[in-house]
Amino acid sequence: MAEYTPMIQQYLRIKAEYKDAFLFFRLGDFYEMFFEDAVNASRELEITLTSREGGSAERIPMCGVPHHSARNYIDQLVQRGYKVAICEQTEDPKSAKGVVRREVVQLITPGTVMEGKGIEEKENNFLASVSQFGRDTFGVAFNDLTTGENRVTILTGTKHDVINELYSNGVKEVVIPEALDEEVKRSIIESCSATISIEETTSIDHAFSTIVKHLNDEKLLITFGRLLNYLQKTQKRSLNHLQAVIHYNAHQYMRIDLYSKRNLELTETIRSKGKKGSLLWLLDQTITAMGGRLLKQWIDRPLIDHDDIQLRLNMVETLKNQYFERHDLRELLKDVYDLERLAGRVAFGNVNARDLMQLRKSLEQIPAIKKVIHELGNEYAGNLANKIDSLEDLTMLLHSSIKENPPLSIKDGDIIKDGFNETLDRYRDASRNGKTWIANLEKEEREKTGIKSLKIGYNKIFGYYIEVTRANLQYLPEGNYERKQTLSNAERFITPELKEKEALILEAEEKIIQLEYDIFVDIREQVKDYIPRLQLLSKIISEIDALQCFATISEERHYSRPTFSENEIFIKDGRHPVVEKVMNSQEYVPNDCFMKDGRHLLLITGPNMSGKSTYMRQVALIAILAQIGCFVPANEAVLPIFDQVFTRIGAADDLISGQSTFMVEMLEAKNAIVHATQKSLILFDEIGRGTSTYDGMALAQAIIEYIHDHLGSKTLFSTHYHELTDLENQLPQLTNVHVSAIEEQGKVVFLHKIKEGAADKSYGIHVAELAELPSSLINRARQILEQLEQGDQKKSEKEEPVENKIEQNQVEESQLSFFEATTNTNLKEEGLTKKEKQVVQMVKSLNLLEMTPLDAINKLYEVQKKLT
Ligand code: ADP
Repeated sequence: MAEYTPMIQQYLRIKAEYKDAFLFFRLGDFYEMFFEDAVNASRELEITLTSREGGSAERIPMCGVPHHSARNYIDQLVQRGYKVAICEQTEDPKSAKGVVRREVVQLITPGTVMEGKGIEEKENNFLASVSQFGRDTFGVAFNDLTTGENRVTILTGTKHDVINELYSNGVKEVVIPEALDEEVKRSIIESCSATISIEETTSIDHAFSTIVKHLNDEKLLITFGRLLNYLQKTQKRSLNHLQAVIHYNAHQYMRIDLYSKRNLELTETIRSKGKKGSLLWLLDQTITAMGGRLLKQWIDRPLIDHDDIQLRLNMVETLKNQYFERHDLRELLKDVYDLERLAGRVAFGNVNARDLMQLRKSLEQIPAIKKVIHELGNEYAGNLANKIDSLEDLTMLLHSSIKENPPLSIKDGDIIKDGFNETLDRYRDASRNGKTWIANLEKEEREKTGIKSLKIGYNKIFGYYIEVTRANLQYLPEGNYERKQTLSNAERFITPELKEKEALILEAEEKIIQLEYDIFVDIREQVKDYIPRLQLLSKIISEIDALQCFATISEERHYSRPTFSENEIFIKDGRHPVVEKVMNSQEYVPNDCFMKDGRHLLLITGPNMSGKSTYMRQVALIAILAQIGCFVPANEAVLPIFDQVFTRIGAADDLISGQSTFMVEMLEAKNAIVHATQKSLILFDEIGRGTSTYDGMALAQAIIEYIHDHLGSKTLFSTHYHELTDLENQLPQLTNVHVSAIEEQGKVVFLHKIKEGAADKSYGIHVAELAELPSSLINRARQILEQLEQGDQKKSEKEEPVENKIEQNQVEESQLSFFEATTNTNLKEEGLTKKEKQVVQMVKSLNLLEMTPLDAINKLYEVQKKLT
């Protein structure tokens, strides 16, 4: 190190403390990067890599960005998950002895960035911390620095729960102790794509005692303490906008694991990972950014308390019915700025006069909003209205101080209103009087000299001057006109009086600019005192906005208010909210869903693309909408309050990939099976499809039996294994339903309509026939199918001794394989041959009302074939 120049030595010393960040090293008007940082930054930012002498034998790689456009480059790096340490010169280079002193003034990281492209208006930017207590207990805390929100919880479950919680909040960065469980660490990076930061200190600075005073648990304090220490170390400034830490319990909300959240496309779609096409996209009729963020939080955390849900639904109903009031409310909300983020920027000292102007405009809407809410006549609305604090004192302050259209810069004056500050008014008077005096002087001089074209002008070098054209010079009388500048066709003069006034004006203007800046900074300081009240107000406004959003969407899309039952699902004419919107409401076929005692498990069969998975998702989305307090896309909906929703819904693209996808399928299935309760909703779409037929079918059946016998969760299970429909005879809670299709002018038309009973078994061949494949080919297919079925049967016959043994052990039914289980039922029908039993089963399961004559003939043909 000794061989490097003192400045490079300084650089290296600072860089050693910020090894995991790009060090933006201020050098005059540039932020420079050196060594590896320079090489990496030039690649990431596509800027030229150069080099410089640094005292060593080899030149040092270097690249830099101009100070004034650094924001954009910082944004790019932070958005890609990097950290940027901003190192400024902290003494005046002119007075520095030796190398100018430099210090890192802020570490900008993905979880602590306050502004820029990475910050979405309607999304929180969460930083999280994880602490581990023993093997399976974790503390998780969240902070959004832009809004000042803080939450903390303790999870005593599996590591999966930690990842779930982090993923749900879309964290960008997670602060952990070095010693955190390796598997959790890896999952944070892989599943949440979050940046990892290490922080070991957990003690809480006295300055923050008020925001944690209600946390009476050591684990909560340690977890939040880690987060807080990281924030202090990176921000190096006052964090007095941090709000009281909310201690929550994950079991307070409906739990939807991360797989299911993705599968149901609640806040982003599977394919594009964007908001468009998600439930959030469909619902988002919020007007304010705060309301938008709250809506997302509500979707991520549906309620499970009946009374809480009813409160929201009551408000939605009131707002839905009172169209004009809602319309007024929406208009008023349009002028409400992001108060919560503004409070954060006030705390950071980042607001300009325009921001304060917008704050004033926002606050001016509040009394009217309060009035509308009050007049809704609903009890909860009344309470909300009473809680609204219009901050009249702040409105007054801003109203009297800030001009209507202030400039962006706070350093050029023209910000503060007349009448707000006496000294300022005096300077302004002086300046205005001086200007009037000069304007009058032009008139006087013209009269005195008789030169009509005489004018008074101003430039930066000579200040004010009297200009007389060359042709008129002769009329200028003797006097104290002093020649200052000669132009090609005119001369410019000054007079002592003019200069005297000029000095007064300039002095006043200089003072005005300085004073306006000082007054502005003072106002900005005063606004800091209002931060907690602004944050409280923004909470209420965002709630009102989210509720009006539900009311608006419910009215627009003809949703109805759900009601709740203990154990029953009764959905009449339900629709998938997003598919319905995307495809055009007229074409969407509504479907019912009935589930109650005796039918907790629906086995859904039907051809591909007939609408099975849409139907299943629709049931889950209706349940989630109901529990976030929104009306639902159905003519009528009675639902239990679900504690959890699990899904395994294959995306088309993972059906073609291999082993690892099957592993994901099994992991998702496991997750449901381990955690689901009687109050849960399970959606399994084509489970077992990712492996060989028998293997898959066996697993599918075993899973169904397990859910049926051990969990009792409401379950929708779609399958293309037609054989599974026989389970209806075996499992009292299982009912077959299918998606129907008809033949129309020789073509199969999917009706997308869910009907009772199993789908036609030989559907594929039937469809092939309708498609007019050669009849010899169709007959051959039937033959092959039959042979395959007989093959199965022979196989089962051979295994009979094993099956008998298992029959005696019915208690262990969950461990039966598919073949064993089906044969069990068959054996109960005594006196018939195996083939005859099969025929009986088949005839029993026919749904004659839905069969075309062609179907019937086909079936008869099959029956006859089987028996001969
Ligand atoms: P499956 O799971 O049976 O393969 P999907 O649920 O993926 O079928 O549905 C396939 C397509 O059918 C959907 O993309 C949608 O366009 C259409 N569809 C599904 N359900 C309906 C419905 N109820 N009404 C109208 N179209 C539907």
